[in-house]
Amino acid sequence: MYKCFYCKKEIKPEHIRKRVRCVYCGSKILFKARTKNVTIQAR
Ligand SMILES: [Zn+2]
Repeated sequence: MYKCFYCKKEIKPEHIRKRVRCVYCGSKILFKARTKNVTIQAR
């Protein structure tokens, strides 16, 4: 999940698969949204 730097809306990865751009405001600056309580463990 990504977030737009400007409008702070969540953007699904499939929306920016073709072009990295906010689908709401057209911003090209996105950042990866940090989700709480997410733990990534290597098995
Ligand atoms: Zn936006």
